[in-house]
Amino acid sequence: MKVLLTTENLREGVQRMAREIRRAYDARPITMLGIMTGSVVLLADLIREFDMPLRVGVLQASSYRGTTTRGELIINAASLPDVSGRDVLLVDDIFDTGRTLEGIREHVSGLGARSVRTAVLLRKRGRQEVSLEPDFVGFEIPDEFVVGYGLDYCDEYRNLAYVAALEPAEIARRTS
Ligand code: 5GP
Ligand code: MG
Repeated sequence: MKVLLTTENLREGVQRMAREIRRAYDARPITMLGIMTGSVVLLADLIREFDMPLRVGVLQASSYRGTTTRGELIINAASLPDVSGRDVLLVDDIFDTGRTLEGIREHVSGLGARSVRTAVLLRKRGRQEVSLEPDFVGFEIPDEFVVGYGLDYCDEYRNLAYVAALEPAEIARRTS
């Protein structure tokens, strides 16, 4: 594994994002919605940077991608707090093609949120397939498969306190 972001890098990045978010919302109460499970560590660290009233919720999304068809996004919003009239900030681990976040943004807008903005810890360079631009980005990273700080490979590695790129050999070993 190759470490891309150390614990210290992550701490500084999350604090920087929190400052930008505070400035953008100018003391208006925010409803932060973490997209599970990848955002679990970011969400926990980010919300503790705020000492103002804040609502927190989560939602689950998964996409089933065929080989030729564009994947259908399944959103499970059963545990979502009421978002109508609220300023919602969607929090996700990584912006890759952007399709997940775009789909969720449309869904939450449809529930009558007053505004919907997006914050992601990581953004992969050269992968974007949608016009949506995340409003808050922690770090730009190269197009490599990363794990740690919430991000998994086969449901492992989420607990790493750093972000690392998995070597192709490690991926191959696990899939064979
Ligand atoms: P998108 O819809 O933006 O293409 O995909 C976003 C989702 O794909 C992320 O929320 C994450 O679950 C998964 N993903 C994309 N790139 C990576 C990666 O490098 N590592 C891990 N662990 N998940 C990724
Ligand atoms: Mg995810």
